This record gives sequence, C-alpha cells and structure tokens, in this order.
Amino acid sequence: MKCDIITIFPEIFDAYLAESILKRAIQKKLIEIKVHNLRDFTRDRHKTVDDYPYGGGPGMVMKPEPFFNAIESTKTNGVERFTIMLSPQGKVFNQDMALSLSKERRRLLFICGRYEAIDERVRENLVDEEISIGDYILTGGELPALVIIDSIVRLIPGALGDERSKEEESFTWGILDYPHYTRPPEYRGLTVPDVLLSGNHKEIAKWRRKEALRHTMRRRPDLLKKASLTDEDYKLIEEIKEERDEFD
Ligand code: SAM
Repeated sequence: MKCDIITIFPEIFDAYLAESILKRAIQKKLIEIKVHNLRDFTRDRHKTVDDYPYGGGPGMVMKPEPFFNAIESTKTNGVERFTIMLSPQGKVFNQDMALSLSKERRRLLFICGRYEAIDERVRENLVDEEISIGDYILTGGELPALVIIDSIVRLIPGALGDERSKEEESFTWGILDYPHYTRPPEYRGLTVPDVLLSGNHKEIAKWRRKEALRHTMRRRPDLLKKASLTDEDYKLIEEIKEERDEFD
C-alpha cells in the first residue's frame, strides 16, 4: 500500500506515524506514506495557500493552484492513483470502506483541507472520493487522514501482531465486540466471569457471542438489522430478552 498526503501541517503526522502498529507497518514496508507540504507547491515568495472568498463571507479559501501543482508534481508515470479529499460533506467512513481501501492497488492520495474550504475546482477536477469521518466539523483534514490510514493499515495482512485480533472486532463480524478481561481475576471485589476462567473453549465462545449480541442490542441495535445472524444467534437473542433486568 502506498499513500501520499497533501497538507499544510506535515509535522502533525510525524508523531503518530512513528509509533506502534503504524511504525512497524512502515518499517516492514507494508505501507509507504509520503507527506507533502502544500506550501512547497506554491509559486510566490510568501508561499500563499489561501485567499479571500469570492462573493464575500467569513474565513479563507484554499487556493486551487498549489493543489493542482502538488498533485501533478507528485505523480509517478504509470502509477494509478485514487484521490481522497477529507471533507465533512463526504461519504461517512466505516469499516467496509476501510476494508475496501486496504485492498486498493492504486496509490492513495489524501488531500487535507484547512480554513473555510478548498476551492471547489479542486473537488470537481482532482478528487475521486470525498470522505468524512463523521457529522462534526474539525479544523483540518489531517486527523481524518490519520484515522483512515490507521484503520486501513491494521487490515493489511502482517500489520497486526496477531491476525485474529481483527476477525472478531466490532463491525468486522457485523456486530459489536464482546467484553474483554485480563488479570487479576479479582480486583477490589470486582470479578471476572467464571466461564472465562473455566478453560472450556466452547462455552467461552458461546458466552462471547452472547455478550457481543447483548452489547449490540443495548448500544447499536441498528447493526443487528444488517448483521448475518445464525439460528444459534437468534436463540441467544431470545435468552437475552428473557433476562429483562439486563436488557430493556
Ligand atoms: N466549511 C466546511 C464545511 O462546512 O463543509 C468545513 C471546513 S473545515 C473547518 C476544514 C477542513 O477540515 C475541511 O476542508 C476538511 O478537510 C477537514 N474536515 C473537517 N471536518 C471533517 C470531517 N468530519 N471529516 C473529514 N474531514 C473534515
């Protein structure tokens, strides 16, 4: 996987890309990330990237020329690219999109906006997909780019220490994850469910599936409508419903 990021704040990426799973994925060459400073693609002495909006109004608008220059200059002959503009007006990001991007053969190019907006001609002419990370407004596209890259990287085979981690995670199997516990078995009188200490793998798997279903019923019932559930899942759902004190 190869990515380019265009931003006016390249340093934002340094710390995050230098830690943990992303750092290891870069070292293992599972992903290559090049961060480009938009100001390097300006042609004036002040490296201007923004200007007043035509028609008036608040805020500044990012100029088109540096983006066109940046995208043209970072192009490699024969390498196909898929250009993503981070935008609150885009398609709202989810795990399915992460999975499909993680399989993308084309080089990904992320355009991070700042200020009031990016000149519309950039979106109209240079962008393949606009992606939002949620219905709220951030000051820039750098965090959304990192969010997306982070979620993609962990789906690339070899990026996680234990590949099984991602198989049972929230969203991957259509419902939320089950609750997790670690040592000690008792802390301040708070105990771990007996079944997890039993060594009975079949019972543990059943308990986990049931608790995952319970979490989903409580917190994200919308997911259950789309999830592919088995007959056993429906039985567990009935059991959960009968345990009225825990679910209403
Ligand atoms: N005026 C714009 C609007 O209302 O749609 C918001 C601009 S925002 C202050 C500046 C930049 O932050 C955007 O160009 C985009 O790159 C990024 N951004 C803000 N919120 C975002 C979100 N929820 N998802 C993705 N990018 C976002």
